[in-house]
Amino acid sequence: MNGSGANLAGCASCEGRCCREYNVHVTIADVRRLAAGMALHPREFVYLKEGKEEDNSDFRFKPGGPLYDLHLLHRPVTKGCVFLMEIAPGKARCGAYVHRPIVCATFPTSLAQGSVGIREKTLCGGPDSWNLATMDLPAYRRDIARNRAAWSEHLRMAREWNARVDASTRPATEEQLYDFILAAETSEDAEQADRSAPASS
Ligand code: SF4
Ligand code: SF4
Repeated sequence: MNGSGANLAGCASCEGRCCREYNVHVTIADVRRLAAGMALHPREFVYLKEGKEEDNSDFRFKPGGPLYDLHLLHRPVTKGCVFLMEIAPGKARCGAYVHRPIVCATFPTSLAQGSVGIREKTLCGGPDSWNLATMDLPAYRRDIARNRAAWSEHLRMAREWNARVDASTRPATEEQLYDFILAAETSEDAEQADRSAPASS
């Protein structure tokens, strides 16, 4: 859900379909940002979903075993994302807004030949549901680029995890994967550390 800022009118009249009906596949950087920002352990907001070999899925737990992807949990009663706050019947907002996955922050945009556009066939109801003229397009372009870089980094880290699993004689556990994620250092962490460092004189 992006509309708390960029598409206030459209999202205000929508019950947050994107946050109820999509399965949100997240990166290691997203999990680390959400864990730190929301003070939660990853097991409280993500689950591992078996992926398909052809989808280039992420994490293995035993040599040659199936691959799993990290997805945001949904609440069983409302069916909404675990971070979706129900504020009134038919009205909901993202409760993790500043920490939300980059894929949520960029939804429903795409980048084609350097131009930001609204994707066809989304739950928003099509390109007319958003108004490009009111959107901060440089911010979307930056976030789409950040998302692509985060996915490259995520897949590199997943290959590192899988190599460790392949070299071990014992199957790995979900808890060990979460420990690996919480101990990882992503480029987002490095940027954050740079921003927090005192300026040199
Ligand atoms: S993190 Fe926020 S924006 Fe993303 S699916 Fe969940 S509630 Fe929606
Ligand atoms: S489906 Fe589209 S219009 Fe509805 S809340 Fe999500 S981003 Fe907003």
